[in-house]
Amino acid sequence: CGIVGYIGEIDAKEILLKGLEKLEYRGYDSAGIAVRNEAGITVFKEKGRIADLRSAVDTGVEGKTGIGHTRWATHGVPNQVNAHPHQSTSGRFTLVHNGVIENYHLLQKEYLPGVEMKSDTDTEVIVQLIEKFVNDGMTTAEAFRKTLGLLHGSYAIALLDAEEAQTIYVAKNKSPLLVGLGDDFNVVASDAMAMLQVTDRYVELHDQEMVIVKKESVEIQTLDGKTVARDSYVAELDM
Ligand code: GLU
Repeated sequence: CGIVGYIGEIDAKEILLKGLEKLEYRGYDSAGIAVRNEAGITVFKEKGRIADLRSAVDTGVEGKTGIGHTRWATHGVPNQVNAHPHQSTSGRFTLVHNGVIENYHLLQKEYLPGVEMKSDTDTEVIVQLIEKFVNDGMTTAEAFRKTLGLLHGSYAIALLDAEEAQTIYVAKNKSPLLVGLGDDFNVVASDAMAMLQVTDRYVELHDQEMVIVKKESVEIQTLDGKTVARDSYVAELDM
């Protein structure tokens, strides 16, 4: 399973699909991408191989921001509905997640009693919680931070907000995730290999950190909102 994300100046689709192909070795049962442009966010997802996803993607949909996912199902059978990305009820938030949310059922009971779930995954609770807290009046960053603070378990997450073109929200706890740096773009990936096609300069993330990724900046924060300074390094890997 794995995660990729791109925000920059060119169409994200091919970068995401190539990145997912590089993550195939980690094992997966389904895959998906979400692409953002002026019209909104479009999701493509399929059970099966990246090649199946590739043929399902409409090449006419272009977008300079996107996220992608290979799934290794833990909650909910491998099928198209349970494949990531997952979207909130209104469609405003789109999210990919690797890992397991151990307390998803409790969180659903406590915070989301009236919300109809579209999938059988633990993951959908994350994106629905973010939407709930935004509906309660929080900013997306505040809602994301609050949601992360409620989660028990492991996660690597990338989140898109349809109302905010310039940002990918990212977080990590006990699942691998790196941020890759470019000149007029930035990327995220489960491992450096997935994004060596576009950059070899990386910033490591620590557990319980969230990151606000824009095409010209990367801001790492702790879950209590403090900004963290961290040096980048060059990944020395053969492709
Ligand atoms: N627990 C999530 C699911 O079953 C994510 C699995 C993964 O890490 O790919 O959908």
